[in-house]
Amino acid sequence: MTKPTIVISACLNNHAFRYNGTSANDEIVNKIKFLFKLIDVCPEVSIGLGIPRKPIKLNKFDDKFKVIQEETNIDLTEKFEKFSYEFINNNKNKIYGAILKAKSPSCGVANCKYYVDGKIQGRTYGIFARILKATLPYIPLTDEVHLRNKQLLWEFLTKVFMFFRFENSKYDINSLIEFHSRHKYILMGISQKHLKILGQILAKHNGKNFLELRKVYEEKFKEVLKLNFKKSNLVNTITHIFGHISKSLNSKEKNNFIKMIEKYRNGNLDFNLLIEILRVYALRFNNEYLLSQFFLNPYPEIE
Ligand code: SF4
Repeated sequence: MTKPTIVISACLNNHAFRYNGTSANDEIVNKIKFLFKLIDVCPEVSIGLGIPRKPIKLNKFDDKFKVIQEETNIDLTEKFEKFSYEFINNNKNKIYGAILKAKSPSCGVANCKYYVDGKIQGRTYGIFARILKATLPYIPLTDEVHLRNKQLLWEFLTKVFMFFRFENSKYDINSLIEFHSRHKYILMGISQKHLKILGQILAKHNGKNFLELRKVYEEKFKEVLKLNFKKSNLVNTITHIFGHISKSLNSKEKNNFIKMIEKYRNGNLDFNLLIEILRVYALRFNNEYLLSQFFLNPYPEIE
């Protein structure tokens, strides 16, 4: 299978495009870039602001966010909006995620400062990130700061690769059924309700209604992509998976893993460690059902 395409802020991809003529090289982003085909985006350079350039700020006037170049007092909002809609429209059918630069008034994902009457009022999306999220709300969207958290990294990559596999599986009913069954535990980790509804949609298959059924499945699946993984759902999913293995373990091993789940629930144990142990157990007992589940192996290995 080819690689999923994602959008990346150009400064995170080694381009020295920032207002001060630097790049925003990031260790984690550099580590995972090989997993994707990348489409660079730099809204500020694309609308004609030079390098270096005077900094811009996000300001709120009534209900509307505007991007103002402080020193010149030029309102750049319209230019940004025009570029963002055009860029997203040109790429919407080929992207499976986006990694944008944190805190930027253009690219920031929910963590960019905004001002009212010159004073900081809070944090919100940069103008490009806001339009991307509003136009394609199902696209997994993150920044380099979130990716430093190992669980958030796992969640982002898991969603991007699940979305990519969906697009490659939606051409016939058998592939779609296989997609659904091999993503059972990932879907359960996000929303048990949606897992059930998606299963019910596929159960209505009668050999003649594939395109209609796929349309309904895709709509519901994209709802799942909009949701975040929940800790309670992940605990439930891990417990389910453990149920397939626990009968092969001795009581000490069983108790130890149950304690580890509790530690994770209480915030005292790394999520990825639980996944790693489950994968080792699945391999040790050659549990083909679990090994076929993408939950234990959602994306290619990273060093
Ligand atoms: S944060 Fe966005 S707009 Fe700013 S330099 Fe990086 S890519 Fe360009």
